[in-house]
Amino acid sequence: MEYNALIKELGVEVILFYPTNPESQTDGIYFPDDKIIFVNGMLAEIERENIILHELGHLISGHYRYDCQPDMIHVGEENQADRYMVKSRAEQYLESFDDKPDYVDIHGFLTLFHIKPSLYDMADSVFRQLLNYSN
Ligand SMILES: [Zn+2]
Repeated sequence: MEYNALIKELGVEVILFYPTNPESQTDGIYFPDDKIIFVNGMLAEIERENIILHELGHLISGHYRYDCQPDMIHVGEENQADRYMVKSRAEQYLESFDDKPDYVDIHGFLTLFHIKPSLYDMADSVFRQLLNYSN
């Protein structure tokens, strides 16, 4: 995954932050006007990358929202950003195969990339799309 190249191309700056409130739910914030993505520096690298991909998903989709706390108001935009992240990871995952795999272990994929299990159906849909399964 060349998200670093994408960040450069988009002119986005990524800054780590360290939450002082342990109850903070926010792991990623992006400011579209300034093109700055803040990522929770306490997370493991692979999880920080997921957050960056999610925020890039917002940016590329043109969302004007900067706080990714889970709520129902912006659930459509959150889904769009999550799908961008999952698709980027799925493409990265498929690069490790010489040929299209006949079967993808979705649970194993989610575990490998530290993606939350609630995105199982989304990941399944993304792989079907990428692999052009007939059903
Ligand atoms: Zn978000």
